[in-house]
Amino acid sequence: MATFADLPDGYYAIDDPHHLEQVTYWRRAQVRSQFGPWPPKARYGPVLRRSDVPDGLSGQARDEWVRRWFTEVREPYDAAVREAIAADPVAAGKRFADLLTRCCLCGRKLSDARSKVYGIGPECRQGISAEVLAAYFVPRVGRAHRGQS
Ligand SMILES: [Zn+2]
Repeated sequence: MATFADLPDGYYAIDDPHHLEQVTYWRRAQVRSQFGPWPPKARYGPVLRRSDVPDGLSGQARDEWVRRWFTEVREPYDAAVREAIAADPVAAGKRFADLLTRCCLCGRKLSDARSKVYGIGPECRQGISAEVLAAYFVPRVGRAHRGQS
């Protein structure tokens, strides 16, 4: 299985690990080792609010509580997201393309029917080997079944 470190640049859509009925969108850009929600202002997963921090904690105790929250709550969520995408990057990319009608490699809008089938626009397709491109060519029926599993 591919690991997250091998994940190609692109856009991905997966179920939210905590709320499976909600779709979340992510972008990976290896150039600057970036990974985050898409669009960038989107926020998914647990958020620590000021009011969540127990009253009476201050200074070092407060810092430790906050650090533990990130270790125990936020980081497992982020790990689950990375794991879900790495488990099947092509499916996650195609899902992004299908749901938003955008190229899963560059994020631009897809217009022609052929691009929509691949989930990849004409310019991006030129830079991809036929072998890799074939993985993106999944008939809709097959995809619908895979989505139900
Ligand atoms: Zn593209």
